[in-house]
Amino acid sequence: MATPRPELLSLNTATVREKWNLAQMIEGCARRGIRGISPWRDKLDALGVNQAARMIRAHDLTVTGLCRGGMFTAVDGAGRDAAIQDNLKAIDDAATIGAQCLVLVAGGLPAGSKDIAGAREQVRDGIAAILPAAKAAMVPLAIEPLHPMYAADRACVNTLQQALDLCDALGDGVGVALDVYHVWWDPKLRVQIARAGEEKRLFAYHICDWLVPTTDLLLDRGMMGDGVIDLPKIRGWVEAAGYAGFHEVEIFSAGNWWKRDPDEVLEVIKQRHAECT
Ligand code: ZN
Repeated sequence: MATPRPELLSLNTATVREKWNLAQMIEGCARRGIRGISPWRDKLDALGVNQAARMIRAHDLTVTGLCRGGMFTAVDGAGRDAAIQDNLKAIDDAATIGAQCLVLVAGGLPAGSKDIAGAREQVRDGIAAILPAAKAAMVPLAIEPLHPMYAADRACVNTLQQALDLCDALGDGVGVALDVYHVWWDPKLRVQIARAGEEKRLFAYHICDWLVPTTDLLLDRGMMGDGVIDLPKIRGWVEAAGYAGFHEVEIFSAGNWWKRDPDEVLEVIKQRHAECT
């Protein structure tokens, strides 16, 4: 299959978050010819959303997502209301910077709870509550299924099938962010990617690699080519499903990539994107 087009490369800013602020990330992408960027909200708040929007426009970058909204589950109604308010703010910010979607990480079990079915209902209700505002702002909501190892503490939406079923229950304006780190192992991945394409719900594509062994379940993601994920195969499925958007590199790596010079990291990303994905 053809090598991926370099102009489809996007930087999820978590990849260089330890050494750069958002202004440096925007300038770094522009300097290195990376045309997409996906900021996290802590960095966006630090720079200021209007200033960030100006800089992103000035460098003609595409904002492939805003990370992240979600975290809808809570022990009580006040907690769930606070989450909804926070998500409404995120929708506003996503609109201001022209993000192609707001990425939603569902939230895990409320403290002290063992009711994962109930948590999943809270997630559905939370997304339903913000969906009208997202549609009005023309910000697509992208549910990101997370690997089941995070079901308790981060996200009780754990497979692409589950995320798409949730989308079906919610209607228009909501889709999925497909992150290979979370879904590569899923025996239903191919068929569910095809379904996502048919339902026009594939809003974002995140790439990295799964290292063997993995020494930290959150902060030891690999660079493309260093692990066991068949990235060209998954890209083929994604493209066959009609996805023609960006390939967003998202690497949490406390022990390796976060320690390196970000300019070097961006160069490695460009090379590996071309050779290994
Ligand atoms: Zn992701």
